[in-house]
Amino acid sequence: MYWDQLTSPQVDALDRNIPVILPVSATEQHGAHLPLATDRLIGEHFCSRLNDQIADQVLILPSVGIGCSEHHKDFAGSLSVQHQTFLQQLTDIADCVVKYGFKNMLVLNSHGGNQAIGQSFVEIYGYRHPELNLAIATWWRIAAETLYKLNDTGPGGAGHAGEFETSLMLVIAPDLVHLDQVQSKANVPTLAWAEGDLLRGPKAGLYRRMKDMTPNGVYGEPAAGTREKGEEITAIVVPALQQIILDMYQLSQ
Ligand SMILES: [Zn+2]
Repeated sequence: MYWDQLTSPQVDALDRNIPVILPVSATEQHGAHLPLATDRLIGEHFCSRLNDQIADQVLILPSVGIGCSEHHKDFAGSLSVQHQTFLQQLTDIADCVVKYGFKNMLVLNSHGGNQAIGQSFVEIYGYRHPELNLAIATWWRIAAETLYKLNDTGPGGAGHAGEFETSLMLVIAPDLVHLDQVQSKANVPTLAWAEGDLLRGPKAGLYRRMKDMTPNGVYGEPAAGTREKGEEITAIVVPALQQIILDMYQLSQ
């Protein structure tokens, strides 16, 4: 179910153990071939497929579509809010969820720049609200071991606007994918311990702006993206997400 498609009395009649999902994403550059909405569309895609499976066992909030993207602002069109703003927005939304008595909330993240502050939100808010089961899931991490099998381009290939995000967008909104604008991998090598992609987190975090990581805004290999791979990624991520939701429901029983 979608929170904002229900009436107020319909929300009031719901089982409060039903987990509430808050999708959080970004509006930021994804190279010359993918739209600024890529991260939001990917998060909403997983929610939609999950809703197809268990509509009456999940409640999906409207997306937070602007995230922490300061490091993308050298590229035109990227929107960003400060980490403090993002933390406050998640806090205010969670306050509403708690006010109406819901007992389970999952933040579903689809943007790397939201991960650290999202985890901080869970730690801060979770401590203050023991009545709420609160979790955060970033889509490429909830089934990373299985997703590895789909990664044809090796380390650094499944990064920002690369193999996986391009594959998903070919499923979600092929009309918004500019295949004639796909550029080849332009990852700028740096210290080995700082290298990583969606599947392989770096050993240590070295701060770099996106333009220093890649001059064309793409960190990875979008040419390896296919619609079939996008469906395969979806078929791995959605059941993993479904398991989290069903487990959270059980937790509050
Ligand atoms: Zn992205």
